[in-house]
Amino acid sequence: MRLLNSAAKTVDCRQLVSCALASGLTSHKMVYDDSSKFFLLLVRSLQMNNLFVQAQKVTIAKDKQSQNTEDLRWAFNMTKLLQYERRLYILSEASVQTELLKHHHDNELMKHFSIERTLKLMSCKYYWLKLAKDVKKYVFSCNICQRMKAFKHRSYGEMQTLPHSNSL
Ligand SMILES: [Zn+2]
Repeated sequence: MRLLNSAAKTVDCRQLVSCALASGLTSHKMVYDDSSKFFLLLVRSLQMNNLFVQAQKVTIAKDKQSQNTEDLRWAFNMTKLLQYERRLYILSEASVQTELLKHHHDNELMKHFSIERTLKLMSCKYYWLKLAKDVKKYVFSCNICQRMKAFKHRSYGEMQTLPHSNSL
């Protein structure tokens, strides 16, 4: 029964995060701006409820104690958020990742950058395992980018047959 209760608490925490996310999205337009306090708060609450982050906390503390400097890729920043190679670790919470992709590719200020440029923009700030794959997938599925691509191709003009070698 105790186990069931703790499982229920975990579900509650997750639901709370989702609620916070939903309300943040509707009330803060620039929620996914890196400087947004709400965004950092959201990352913090997701990290706090994540087993991997908590395990990293223990490992990092142990390494610090034993002065083991072998793997310094994972670390906590000044605001106690987990980073990988100085990039903020974003959990595999699909809605957060999608909003970040959206923010860096097709919000009002972003001009539908290419896969490479969107990835460059994101990978210097954020880390998640399939970031490159997700950027590629997101840009490929962007309607505006697809339409622009089709438009650019059309401007090449109609294909014409080459003159026959005998007529040269
Ligand atoms: Zn696009």
